[in-house]
Amino acid sequence: MIDNARMLRTFLELVQIKAESGREEAVARYVSPHLHRLGLSVKKNGEDSTGNVIATLSPTPGRSGWIAIAAHMDTVPLGNPVKPVFRDGAIYSSGDTILGADDRVGIASILEALETVIEKRLPHPGIEVIFTVSEEEGLVGAKRLTSEDLQASMAFIVDSSSDPGHIVVQAPSHVNLSWIVAGKAAHAGIAPEKGVNAIVAAAEGIAAMNIGRIDHETTSNVGIIRGGTATNIVCDSVYVEGEARSFCEKKLEDLVKSMVDAMEAGVAKREASVQTKVQKSYTGFSLKETSPVVQWATSAVRRSGLLPVLISTGGGSDANIFNEKGLPAVNLGTGAQNVHTTKEYISERDLYTIGDIIVAIMTGA
Ligand SMILES: [Zn+2]
Repeated sequence: MIDNARMLRTFLELVQIKAESGREEAVARYVSPHLHRLGLSVKKNGEDSTGNVIATLSPTPGRSGWIAIAAHMDTVPLGNPVKPVFRDGAIYSSGDTILGADDRVGIASILEALETVIEKRLPHPGIEVIFTVSEEEGLVGAKRLTSEDLQASMAFIVDSSSDPGHIVVQAPSHVNLSWIVAGKAAHAGIAPEKGVNAIVAAAEGIAAMNIGRIDHETTSNVGIIRGGTATNIVCDSVYVEGEARSFCEKKLEDLVKSMVDAMEAGVAKREASVQTKVQKSYTGFSLKETSPVVQWATSAVRRSGLLPVLISTGGGSDANIFNEKGLPAVNLGTGAQNVHTTKEYISERDLYTIGDIIVAIMTGA
């Protein structure tokens, strides 16, 4: 259905554009003329130079209603510029950077699907294209969207690293936890008894926490610890950061409370003190197979010749934020593999398949 050569060209051009979170201007400059040329009206969200790009295409005669299709413009930090390499029917980076298929495959497939729909004059509902910023830094761009930006009744995010045909219909809530443990500095050789060791106090707290896989729908982690200046100083301050996720709000609440309590008790045992910060990063979602957005997605996958597979994921995406804002959204599998690593790749076949699926989404029921 799509033009494979054009899709590939767009994808290769996009992965070579450096645009880490917060510096997405170059991608915005790449997509905007494409969208204009295809007849979409393009507006930017936010006053700064790196806002989300939002573009709309009115429904064709006889069609009504609006759907939204979204991908994110940023990547995790790259290091060197990406040099795409072909190997065994797949596209890799040259090995010292990520490829950035996450999420340039999303952008490329949306642009190619728009080209196809317009070129072949396929009937479609109103289409709202949303390219977000700083997804990798905590879904920042999606969080900035207002109800005026979102006129659609359902949304499709093209950003899951599952295979094409997979549809993410469930994702957990996520809470971020951070602690500053305060002790008291002293000379470690001359007067250690005058000090309170913040490292030991933090360790006591962390060791008492329930960390890792808690149950089939709940996980927790301590991911960052920083502190200390020299071995001859009793450490007086440690920063600790972690997270908790669950598909069940009650379990998440209980887990977060147990982590906070563990740290407070551990620190108190060592006569140190602690400042705790708990922040909900995003809310989970769970969509029924019968919900219109899931029906729309499964029908599009079928029309592309694949069997739809509904999945749940432990990760968060812009779909969490869209659902939180009251716009039912699923996240579509793209086939991007080993994302966020130097071994990231995508097979050419998956690249074209997701392009076809997005055409079917755009022209669906
Ligand atoms: Zn992504």
